[in-house]
Amino acid sequence: MISSRVEQLSSSATLKITALTKRLKKEGKDVVNFAAGEPDFDTPLFIKEKAKKAIDDGFTKYTPSAGTNELREAIARKLKEENGIACESSSIIITSGAKYAIYAAMAAFLNPKEEALIPSPYWVSYPAMAIICGAKPKIIKTKERDGFKLTAQTLSKAISKKTKLLILNYPSNPTGATYSNEELKEIYEVIKDKNIIVLCDEIYEALTYDGKKHTSFASIGDAAKFTVTVNGFSKTFSMTGWRIGYLCADKNFAGAISKLIDHTTSCASSISQAAALAAINDKTWPSQMLAKFEERRNLLWEGLKGLRKIKPLLPQGTFYMLCDIKKSGLASMDFSSQLLDKYLVSTIPADSFGAEGFVRLSFATSDEDINKGIARIKSFLEALK
Ligand code: PMP
Ligand code: GLU
Repeated sequence: MISSRVEQLSSSATLKITALTKRLKKEGKDVVNFAAGEPDFDTPLFIKEKAKKAIDDGFTKYTPSAGTNELREAIARKLKEENGIACESSSIIITSGAKYAIYAAMAAFLNPKEEALIPSPYWVSYPAMAIICGAKPKIIKTKERDGFKLTAQTLSKAISKKTKLLILNYPSNPTGATYSNEELKEIYEVIKDKNIIVLCDEIYEALTYDGKKHTSFASIGDAAKFTVTVNGFSKTFSMTGWRIGYLCADKNFAGAISKLIDHTTSCASSISQAAALAAINDKTWPSQMLAKFEERRNLLWEGLKGLRKIKPLLPQGTFYMLCDIKKSGLASMDFSSQLLDKYLVSTIPADSFGAEGFVRLSFATSDEDINKGIARIKSFLEALK
């Protein structure tokens, strides 16, 4: 009875393991959570207050399907001023989480059998979404020696007549890699005349380390014409449960995506949109969070880099650290499940990201837990033959 598209899907490894970790913790188990795909900080109070006010003011009904004008205008302003993307509010669509922005864009562009190019390691949901659209996810394997980044050469080899869309995600979940302006320009030169949509997921933009500046692909040349930029509030403002994301696209594209929202979610939550409007102009919270995550990245890196049988890769952004565990002799799934069962440390096996031989550790957890987790991983590795 189940459609063949949905039959092909597995449930999301990230969501499944995160839920299992939360359950074990609730049961009183002292689990170190290196699986979390969300900041461990509570949503800032000034954002919560705006949501409470929205409820009290009766701002509790449908909004326009593309989102409230105020939020769309504020986002267009942010993208123009901070990201250098030439856009008007008519190009902005507010969605129920960035995940839905990605899905809506794919559904709006992909015809059956067309190819969506997905560089690997990739976030687990991209291939699944292409499959739901009846399209073909075409994985482009990136190399560790290229920092797991797509190069102009690998991209041009992967493009075929069937290619409709390219997904870029940086800082990347799960590798933490990000692209410089020059690297993006090289990709732009390959793709600019090919009639391909670039879906650029910049949800971890605010978590770019070592004082580097994030460049939006759509700010390069005329890329804004064929790029859908996706971002949201989940990571930058610790608002994963509020479900607010957005996209910015050419206004005809945005119109098409908006029709899809008309007939699926209707609009994102009015209360969450009011809260997001309070968040969008705040700079203090994201910069404090960035500083804290950079400290934690360094703590985890320092703790793991001297250990045998594991090789951590220093992320340039996000709160994820990909670790090469091939020398442990275990497959990713076995490594993660044994580490959880025997040492109560949860991680995500990276085979679900197309990276067998790696596991993903999230440092969206306290310093105390990071230290505890490092000690447990050390014991686990020492106990392996
Ligand atoms: N893109 C990436 C790369 C992510 O890791 C996530 C995390 N869930 C999302 C998009 C979706 O975020 P949201 O919570 O806004 O749906
Ligand atoms: N994106 C996060 C992760 O990779 C949250 C879970 C999800 O939506 O996949 O863990």
